[in-house]
Amino acid sequence: MRSNRFVYIRTFGCQQNEADSETILGICETRGFLPTEQMEEADLILFNTCAVREHAELKALSTTGQLKHLKEKNPALKIGLCGCMVQQEHRKEDVKNKYPYVDFCFGTNMMPRLGEILDEVLSSSKRRFYIEDYKENPGAICEGLPVERKFSYKAYVSIMYGCNNFCTYCIVPYVRGRERSREPEKIVNEVEKLIRSGCKEITLLGQNVNSYGKDLPSPLSFAELLDRICQIQGDYVVKFMTSHPKDATLALFDVMAKYPQMERHFHLPIQSGSDVILKKMNRHYTAKDFFALCDALRERMPEIAITTDIIVGFPGETEEDFRQTLAAMEQCRFDGVFSFIYSPRKGTPAAELPGRLPEEVLKDRMARLLELQQKIATENNEKLIGKTLRALCEGESKTDAAFLSARTDSGKLIHFPKPEGEDLTGQYVQIKIREARAIMLIGEKQK
Ligand code: SF4
Repeated sequence: MRSNRFVYIRTFGCQQNEADSETILGICETRGFLPTEQMEEADLILFNTCAVREHAELKALSTTGQLKHLKEKNPALKIGLCGCMVQQEHRKEDVKNKYPYVDFCFGTNMMPRLGEILDEVLSSSKRRFYIEDYKENPGAICEGLPVERKFSYKAYVSIMYGCNNFCTYCIVPYVRGRERSREPEKIVNEVEKLIRSGCKEITLLGQNVNSYGKDLPSPLSFAELLDRICQIQGDYVVKFMTSHPKDATLALFDVMAKYPQMERHFHLPIQSGSDVILKKMNRHYTAKDFFALCDALRERMPEIAITTDIIVGFPGETEEDFRQTLAAMEQCRFDGVFSFIYSPRKGTPAAELPGRLPEEVLKDRMARLLELQQKIATENNEKLIGKTLRALCEGESKTDAAFLSARTDSGKLIHFPKPEGEDLTGQYVQIKIREARAIMLIGEKQK
C-alpha cells in the first residue's frame, strides 16, 4: 500500500542527469514516494549532482549546506546525494566528513540497485556510501527501470552510457565509466511507445552518441540506429546529443538529410580552433577537419543550425591560439556557442598541465568571444525574419508571462504572444518571425 511520503529531487548539470532523475523518481515511486516541489514537506531529499566544472560542484555543495536546518527540524528526513560529483573519491570523502546530515550517497552506476538502496537507507539510521570504482567495474546499462517522465510531449531516451575518449580536461570517463550501448531493439521499442503515446520530440542521449553501437555483439552504427528509428510512422522530431567530431560520419549526415523527422540542428563541440590546443586536449581532429564537417552538414541540409562548445583558457592557450578559435567561429558561423572558462578537474591530465592563465586574460578572452558570437548569431537569426517556421510549443516563456516559448526543429527558441484561452503546450505551431536576437526569435502564430 502506498503511504503519502514525499520526495524532492533537484538536478544539477546535463541532460543525462535530467534523464537519470526521471528514473530516480520512477524508482522512488515504487517505494511509495510522491514527488514534491517543496523541500520543506519532503521525507526524502535527493540532489543529483554534476562534476563537469568546479562551479557546478560548489553549487551542489553549498545547496547541500542549506539542508542542515531541515534535518535539525525533521530528524526523520533522509538526505541523499548522487550523480557525478559524489562518484569522485575526494568528493565522497568531503561529503562523509563535512556534511554529517547527508544520510547516503550513490554513484552513477547504482541505478539498477536503487530500489534496494532506498530500502536499506529508509530502514536504518546508518550512513551509507554506495560508490563503485570504474577501474574495477565497466558500469551498468539501465534497462527496464521505471521512469517518471517530466513531460508528455518531449522525452529523453538514453542510448548509451559512459565515454572512452579521455579528453584531457574531462572528468566524464572517470565518473561515468566506459562506453556501453543499449540494444537497438530496446531503443526502437522505447521510442515507438513514446511516439504512440503522443510524444512529439525524442532526444537520444549519450556522452558520445556518434560512437554508439561499436561495443554491441553485432555492431551497428549511430546512423543505422537513426535509420531504424525514422522508420516509425508519426509526427515527431528526433534530436540527439552529444556528438564528438572525430566520430561524426558522412553516413550520419546522409541519414539526417534523408528523414524530415530528424532535427535540423547539430551540436558539434569544437572546443578550440587551435590545432596545438586540440592536440593537448586529446580531441583527435584538427580545425580543418572540423570545418569540413560543417561544410558537409550544410551541403546536405542548408537550413541546419550548428552549435558548439568552446573552452576558453585551456592551460597554455596563447593569444594566437585564442585568435584561431575566434577565426574558427567566423568560419563556422555557429548558431550558438556554449563557452566555458577552463575548469581544472582533479584526476584529469589537463589539471597537471602548466600554463594556467591569469583571471584578467580569461575574462578578456571570454568577453571577446561572447561579443563575436552575439554578432554572428544575430546575423544568422536575422535571415529568418519574414519566414514562417514550425515549432513545438513548450509553454509560457520564462521571462514574460504574456508570451509562449517554442522550439524549431533546428533548436531555435521563439517567443510569441500567448493567444487568449488556448493551451498550445506540446503542440506544433507555425510562427512567422518578426524580430531576431542572438539567442531567440520573436514571432506571431499563424492560423
Ligand atoms: S568525448 Fe571527451 S569531452 Fe565528451 S564526455 Fe568523452 S571525454 Fe568528456
